Amino acid sequence: MSKKKSAAKMTGTPDMPCPCQSDKLYRDCCEPAISGKRPATTAEGLMRSRYSAFSLGLASYLIDTLAPERRQPGERGALKRQFRHTRWTGLRIMDVQAGGEQDTVGMVEFEAFYVSEAEPGRLHERSSFRRDQGRWYYVTGDAEFQSNPGA
Ligand SMILES: [Zn+2]
Repeated sequence: MSKKKSAAKMTGTPDMPCPCQSDKLYRDCCEPAISGKRPATTAEGLMRSRYSAFSLGLASYLIDTLAPERRQPGERGALKRQFRHTRWTGLRIMDVQAGGEQDTVGMVEFEAFYVSEAEPGRLHERSSFRRDQGRWYYVTGDAEFQSNPGA
């Protein structure tokens, strides 16, 4: 039972501000999707919940929301290595195309900020999403990483 505290810290608490920086509480934003209570209804919602899962180190959710044909052997280990080295510090949604509750595809353009091995960085990506049987999945993206974006 002594492990409980550190587990809660890693997965977050319902009353904390949502990691996706929506200005909502986690329980009113990404937590219902991540916990499986209520899958994301839009591509943007899924994108936000995946960002939150990255920042909280939740590999299973990231694998579950990746399009099945994109999952690689070793995905979990690669994610865990990334979690150890990268701390996500901010998200800004720049553009959304389709991806609504009635759509089957969507695109979300965003920038996300991180610190990796003490180096700040910026990720800019246009991500594609697909909805299958009522669930959104991340399909692919054109990630561009930039180190020291303020320099
Ligand atoms: Zn959120």
